Formats: sequence, C-alpha cells, structure tokens
Amino acid sequence: MVVVMSPDATDEQIAHVVERVESVGGEAFVSKGVVRTIIGLVGDIDSFHHLNLRTLAGVADVHRISDPYKLVSRQHHPDRSTVWVGPAGHQVPIGPDTFTFIAGPCAVESKEQTAEASRMAQSAGATIIRGGAFKPRTSPYAFQGLGLAGLEILAGIREATGLPVVTEVVDPRDVPMVAEHVDMLQVGTRNMANFGLLQAVGEAGKPVLLKRGMTATIEEWLMAAEYIAQRGNLDVVLCERGIRTFEPATRNTLDISAVPVVQAASHLPVIVDPSHASGRKDLVVPLSRAAIAVGADGVIVDVHPDPETALCDGPQALLGAELRELAQAVRRLPEVVGRAPAGVLAQRG
Ligand code: PEP
Ligand code: MN
Repeated sequence: MVVVMSPDATDEQIAHVVERVESVGGEAFVSKGVVRTIIGLVGDIDSFHHLNLRTLAGVADVHRISDPYKLVSRQHHPDRSTVWVGPAGHQVPIGPDTFTFIAGPCAVESKEQTAEASRMAQSAGATIIRGGAFKPRTSPYAFQGLGLAGLEILAGIREATGLPVVTEVVDPRDVPMVAEHVDMLQVGTRNMANFGLLQAVGEAGKPVLLKRGMTATIEEWLMAAEYIAQRGNLDVVLCERGIRTFEPATRNTLDISAVPVVQAASHLPVIVDPSHASGRKDLVVPLSRAAIAVGADGVIVDVHPDPETALCDGPQALLGAELRELAQAVRRLPEVVGRAPAGVLAQRG
C-alpha cells in the first residue's frame, strides 16, 4: 500500500502517518520528492484498512498495490488449477490442459425433454450435462423451474448418461438438497454478489461454477470467488457469460478479453457461456470458436430438442446443423491451442 501526501503536508503530519502504521505492527518507508512525499507501507494490509489512512490530515490518496483477493490469486498459487467434477471414477477435469464441453437444456422442463437434450449433448461430445431446476427469471411470472422434481430428473440423467451434472442454486437454504442431487453447483449472474449464497456453496463440499455478474468488474467477480474459497472450497470454476453494455444487437456483450485477464490474475479455470452471452443461436458456434482460440478452459451451451416450445431461452438453444457444427469445433479446435477434449477421467489416476 502507498500513501501519497498532499504537496503542503507538514513534517508532523508525515510523522503521524508513520506512527499510526507502526502502531499496528507495520513498517513505513518515507520517500520525499521535490513536490510530494509518498510513504510505502509493508505489513498486514487488513490492519492498515482499519486505520482509515485517507482521513488523516495531509493525506491526499491511498493506493493498494497487491490484489485484494488472496486464495484465488496466482500470487498465492502460481500454477493454474484443474477442478475435477463428478464422483470418484467418473470425474471430468476443467483446467489448463483440456477443453471441457458442457451442454444441456437451459431449464429442466420434463423428464422426456431433459433426457432428449442430454442425449443430444452427450452425442455432440459434452462430458458434463447442464440443466436448471431453479430458474432465477427476470419476471416473477416466467417459468421458475421444477425445483426438487427437477433435481430428481437431473439425478436420473446422471445415472443414465454416466456424466456429471451441474445445476444452479439460488437460495442458501437449498444448497444441501441441490448438492445431494448433482455434482457441481452453479451460482448465476444474478446471484454473484449474494454473499450468503457464496458462503453456503463454499461449505457444500462440491465444485462450484461461478458466473460473472452481468454488471460486475473482473475484480468483483474474483472477490466473489474469494468468498467461496474462504469457506474452504477452492474447487471454483469461473464462467464469463457476457456483460451489460450499450449494444442491443446481442443480449449481453461477451467479454472475451476477460478470459486471459482472469487467467493471468487467478489460478482458477475459466469457461465461457456463449448461449447466455449472446441470446442468439446463430452466434453460439462463432463465440465458442473464439472461446477456444482465446484459451478458455471450456464452454457451457444450451441445447433443446424443440426450441420453439422451450419454457426458457429457446432462441439461444442449439439443435441440428448448429449443434453438429459446434460438436466439430469442440472436437477439433482445442488441439490447435494445445489442449485435449476433456473426457470422463481424462487424466486423474
Ligand atoms: C443459466 O445458465 O441457466 C443462467 C440463468 O445463466 P446466467 O446466470 O448466466 O444468466
Ligand atoms: Mn437461460
């Protein structure tokens, strides 16, 4: 941390800052310039925050130098992490050496629709199935998901396909029940800053897929991941799903640069959701190719056997030719960037 004194700061004011820093066990290095004095602080950053240094007389500004997140930072853990999803013997990696393809229906609508969407996903090469049983919709009048009945359908899909399943949880009270039925817990864009929910999934003992808040900065997103890690769960996969901008041509704007930016800052895997980012099925394949090229650790894509009748997000769901094109892209392109498609139990011995 660096304290910048104002040009007219007195020697007493500088000495007072040093004294306050030393009172909490820190060290203060004073550097006097022609116009200004700056003071470099070394020690426990949290104790410096309690000093409210900005309020001291003569202080013009206080700058943080190190990242505010610790456990998820690459400063803390330089090697990129792999998160393994699924029960022992059926795990799928998400990490730097592989490319993981996750697909399934946006919402679990019925046993038949979920089974058919999962079959489409699996035959296109997906090795993790997605599907929402709790749908956090913008309108309270829109389909809210089947709840527990949906979780039971997903547990059946897990049995039938032998693939791990990821589903969203929206209420901290539901976390144990959701964790009992699926392999990975999703925190959606609307709940990225729901700190009680983040803490609850941090204690659930299952990997977490943490979507970026639609108006969250990368730092806020990583701080949300830190909430989960701080409760003892470092099995967190980040998901860039588009952010709100002024551009109405797509539902959100896919922030593709977030992928390498996050990978430089954090050791956690990062995947891309081109379906929720664009809201348009014609963009899912090109954005998936972009995700692979930029170095994403995977994609998560909506598929539906009959998008016209879908209860949620039909316009972005793939089937037919587009799904075949996506299957080809996720099979062939990862190799170009030095990755293998992530199969069930691809590497862990
Ligand atoms: C979803 O994946 O089903 C979903 C609702 O996504 P998001 O939270 O990114 O909108
Ligand atoms: Mn959706």
